[in-house]
Amino acid sequence: METIVRTKIVDVLKSKAFGTTVNVKGWVRTRRGSKQIGFIALNDGSTINNVQIVVSVEDFGEEYLKPITTGACISVNGVLVRSEGRGQEAEIQAKEIHIYGTADPATYPLQKKGHSLEFLREIAHLRPRTNTFGAIFRIRHHMAMAIHTFFHDRGFFYFHTPVITASDCEGAGQMFQVTTMNLYDLKKDASGSIDYTSDFFGKQTSLTVSGQLEGELAAMALGSIYTFGPTFRAENSNTPRHLAEFWMIEPEVAFNGIEENMQLAEDFIKYCIQWALNHCMDDIRFLNDMFDKELIDRLNFVLKQDFVRLSYTEGIRILEEAVAKGHAFEFPVFWGADLASEHERYLVEVHFKCPVILTDYPKEIKSFYMKQNDDGKTVRAMDVLFPKIGEIIGGSQREDDYDKLSNHAEEMGVPVKDIWWYLDTRKFGTAPHSGFGLGFERLLLFVTGMGNIRDVIPFPRTPNNAGF
Ligand code: ATP
Ligand code: MN
Repeated sequence: METIVRTKIVDVLKSKAFGTTVNVKGWVRTRRGSKQIGFIALNDGSTINNVQIVVSVEDFGEEYLKPITTGACISVNGVLVRSEGRGQEAEIQAKEIHIYGTADPATYPLQKKGHSLEFLREIAHLRPRTNTFGAIFRIRHHMAMAIHTFFHDRGFFYFHTPVITASDCEGAGQMFQVTTMNLYDLKKDASGSIDYTSDFFGKQTSLTVSGQLEGELAAMALGSIYTFGPTFRAENSNTPRHLAEFWMIEPEVAFNGIEENMQLAEDFIKYCIQWALNHCMDDIRFLNDMFDKELIDRLNFVLKQDFVRLSYTEGIRILEEAVAKGHAFEFPVFWGADLASEHERYLVEVHFKCPVILTDYPKEIKSFYMKQNDDGKTVRAMDVLFPKIGEIIGGSQREDDYDKLSNHAEEMGVPVKDIWWYLDTRKFGTAPHSGFGLGFERLLLFVTGMGNIRDVIPFPRTPNNAGF
């Protein structure tokens, strides 16, 4: 076969160089046709759109074409011609075809007909080859680019925080331990506690649940930073919005108060959504038509809205009114309650019909590092609540007073001796600062319209599920 430099299908479909000979390589989506002429729909992942390869059955021979079935991988040299069919501008009249690999129709699990998302999760090694997952993973890439571009353009520095951590201040119990100890022969001290001095790091370590504390250290030097990395939570919540391994973006900004923090969060999310509409329209249109007819409308709607900002206390009042009017929630509503997703979604979808930023939560239900308000009861927290998702961002202004912070830490069961390095920032040149965490997969749920978080990450980790 003649060697011709490969053109990606995304470029072939845009090309107007009719009459030239091109090479494309990819995986066969379908082959159909008559005794004389065959049509191969070829996809190489560069776009959701397939290029049509037209083959003369007489020239190639039926036997030669037979193994070119759904899932097979081929390389095609052919002439680019204007398509007579509807849809695509260009198609390729095949001159030479090389078969890299066949896919026996008797055993290849992805056949023409649609498969359920549940079934596709069981073949996570092959699902990127479907239109749906190709679209989702291309969008995932573009969202990562949007995030880096947004922060880079605003003078933020991408700061890498550790994945393995010895501080479990965010919440023990929901962390995955990291150890090289022999679990069949654990050394314990006289009181029956595990002796970690012989472990790899000489102390108990875990996978991080957040890069925030280290991010704050960086903000106190570089001014504006963000992290973007994997985080791990061993919470046993089998919900469509929780993963045990997910990616989080955490900006942290010196001198920002809660107001600037809210504005940053709103600008950031809107920027990402606009980026998706600018860069991923083919894929979004496909997902809109396949799964969620309101997706594009919803994305455009959120762009136009000023997010509603109100206090937790106001939010509770609205929810209590709803209960009084007969609305039934599964979980109780009272001042001090942690809001469940049903409450968040009521505020967003039923009451305001708009994204909501809820602020000033009771200090008991929020983390120790949030700045305390003068009322002695609430902290300067802010959660961004989204339609269909609930909480998409959680953040706060941070407590910058050494005494208040260390006292509150002890009150909430975080030993000051373990976070001396974090407290040092409040001892040396402390400054007001704020930040937040956006769950990358929650953003992707919103942008793709998918209903289950397992479908927006290539290889989901959830309770009892770490295959692939
Ligand atoms: P939730 O109440 O929804 O469980 P959280 O309050 O525990 O979330 P934070 O600690 O505030 O979450 O984390 C910041 C962001 O990270 C959240 O707003 C959410 O977008 C995302 N997030 C948190 N936990 C998970 C998870 N298990 N899987 C995916 N994303 C998550
Ligand atoms: Mn939160």
